[in-house]
Amino acid sequence: MPKSTQKTIVARSSNQILGLVLTVVGLTPIIVVLLNAWTSGISLLNLSALYEFLWSNPFYIGFGIGFELFYLVIVGTVIIISGLALLARKMRQIEEVTVVTDDLAVTLECTVCKHKWKEHFSEAQLQAMGFPQNRTISRRRCQECRKFTRPKIMGI
Ligand SMILES: [Zn+2]
Repeated sequence: MPKSTQKTIVARSSNQILGLVLTVVGLTPIIVVLLNAWTSGISLLNLSALYEFLWSNPFYIGFGIGFELFYLVIVGTVIIISGLALLARKMRQIEEVTVVTDDLAVTLECTVCKHKWKEHFSEAQLQAMGFPQNRTISRRRCQECRKFTRPKIMGI
């Protein structure tokens, strides 16, 4: 395996691990806060009571410094969103790879006898040939008139 490929795979999986870790880290304070509210006798379905609880109960991080639980929920949410964003980026990369390797049935036309046939190309191959600006492809023999031709791409 070439070195650059290895590096990309390591970067991708570490992104995914970081995304998962961030999601779990972000969920933790939210679960702790909700458990706190629940043990204080607040119904989690009563949103206004829950909202009031979040604003009226400071969370002390030591040295007399405290902030409302509401901020803890916001911080947790932000961490979860960044974790999910990292996971989504990983999924998008996989989608891109799928598109590139996807075979497309291309209709070709012989410039001599106008015979049409289909051939399979990957999107990357078409891009390398300069499609859609360039619509002629490399020389090949026509199955119909047996002549060498540079067939024209009629459609995908
Ligand atoms: Zn032909």
